[in-house]
Amino acid sequence: MMLLAVAVVIALLQALTVGAFLWQRRCRRIADEEAALRRNELARAGRFALAGELSASIAHEVGQPLGAILSNADAAGMMLEDEWQIGELHSILADIRRDALRANQVVQGLRALLQKHTPVLGEIDLNETLGEALTLIRLESRRRRISIESNLMAGNAEVRGDAVQLQQVLLNLAINAMDAMENTADLDRVMTVTTRTAGQGYEFTVEDRGHGIPPEAKQRLFDSLYTTKPHGMGLGLSIVHTIVVAHGGIVYAMPREGGGSVFTVWLPRAAPCVEAEIDNRVARASFVSHAATQGGRP
Ligand code: ADP
Repeated sequence: MMLLAVAVVIALLQALTVGAFLWQRRCRRIADEEAALRRNELARAGRFALAGELSASIAHEVGQPLGAILSNADAAGMMLEDEWQIGELHSILADIRRDALRANQVVQGLRALLQKHTPVLGEIDLNETLGEALTLIRLESRRRRISIESNLMAGNAEVRGDAVQLQQVLLNLAINAMDAMENTADLDRVMTVTTRTAGQGYEFTVEDRGHGIPPEAKQRLFDSLYTTKPHGMGLGLSIVHTIVVAHGGIVYAMPREGGGSVFTVWLPRAAPCVEAEIDNRVARASFVSHAATQGGRP
């Protein structure tokens, strides 16, 4: 009788332990999902803010080809009345096509940035991803009379990540770099974007020749709502930090030799074999350690 009672108590305890474990796991999963949701919403809000920043240069960039399309179409209409000018018409149609494509590219780039976006983690080429974001940045830099030097390394730089989010990182850093150069003399208004191999991954840097990071900002640079700008929101760098950490990387800032700042983002190299092996094991296992699902992996 006594033995039976002990066995029942042990069984109850075991059931309770398993129940508590499952409950804990469920709570943790829900908390992780909520955190990911909040991260995505914050990133999206940040992209809207970015679009606001870029809107003047985008309106200018789209307005120009649209104006050209209209006047070319008018000229073509007039030439249709004169059948000798067929050759000229062909060249006008080519111009219309080129201008329409240019306007379309800008609008597509903006749409990709603003679309509701669930991060898709895949192997992406960092150079190609950053190159696309540089197209949008160049529009804004032209408006601000800032030139961009881009030193994107030759060859592939495969990282595991989400292209839109990594482009958002570069856009945020670039807008900050341009803001910092607002009062920089004309000859020095240069922003440099570089990618290179670094250890087990790749890094990219955004260098400016601006006023430099104020000493009092150093402790709080990546905190949300920290800003020294009159109309700043203080979200840019905290979003950058969140995205980079979710990609298993690191972001930091240093003063630039000769004045200004350098922001560096390091990301681990995509390791398809290791990732596939882990995914495979996770799929087969009943209980998985926190590290296997979270540890450093976005
Ligand atoms: P915001 O741009 O709205 O101020 P951020 O989070 O992007 O928000 O930046 C926070 C602060 O970090 C800025 O207000 C500025 O003081 C500092 N900062 C960021 N980037 C640079 C830079 N390239 N040079 C100097 N200071 C910078």
